[in-house]
Amino acid sequence: MRFLIISDVHSNWDALQAVLRHVRRKRYDRVVFLGDAVGYGASPNAVLTWLQGLGTSAILVRGNHDRVCSGLDDGDYFNRFAREASAWTFDRLDERNLEFLRSFPEGPGELGPDAAICHGSSFDEDAYIFSVYDAQQAFRSLPHPIIFFGHTHVPTLFSLHMEHGQTNLRARLLSGTRTVINLEPETRYLINPGSVGQPRDRDPRAAYAIFDSDSRRVYLYRVPYPAAAARRRIIQAGLPPVLGDRLLHGA
Ligand code: ZN
Repeated sequence: MRFLIISDVHSNWDALQAVLRHVRRKRYDRVVFLGDAVGYGASPNAVLTWLQGLGTSAILVRGNHDRVCSGLDDGDYFNRFAREASAWTFDRLDERNLEFLRSFPEGPGELGPDAAICHGSSFDEDAYIFSVYDAQQAFRSLPHPIIFFGHTHVPTLFSLHMEHGQTNLRARLLSGTRTVINLEPETRYLINPGSVGQPRDRDPRAAYAIFDSDSRRVYLYRVPYPAAAARRRIIQAGLPPVLGDRLLHGA
């Protein structure tokens, strides 16, 4: 089975379209979405209509912005810009998309016995996995050898294996246009494919991954898209301009 893995789209339809064009000639069986479909960007309905159109073939978990933008959570911990954007989104979602957004399940979810998915971390959908310590907690709370996560918007790989009776946990930031990860049988992995719609690793290109569970490989890609157009839409919508500016820098 081949899974297209996308995360943190954040209402950026320009970026999502570029990813879908890029992936068109690659085979995949199911779409996996790691949360934060909306919030920040100017095209929430376009993104949600596409996701909803996938029907039951898509495997979803909700993100914190999905909760706040659909009114399930008041988001009082959000900064000013995130709060402004979530109120803007809530006001503009059409009825069908609002209902769909509210139906996103809380993670973690499963892609089979070997792989799990979550938005933030496996024990808390809002926790961030930045450090080796964070990764250790996440590995502990789920048995799956492979766990995909989002939320940080930074493409990252943590690997855990036993070496001479000691656990060895390594972290690696994944940069570059195409990265291939060969999944070893005795090793566990936590993999963040990066963000489609608001990358934060100083590379403004949209990020996504393909997970091939038969060949046990993960492919990560970076795709250029018209970030200036996405920025213009944000400014024209009356959203905080900083949310458009950051797209140009991947920050
Ligand atoms: Zn996010």
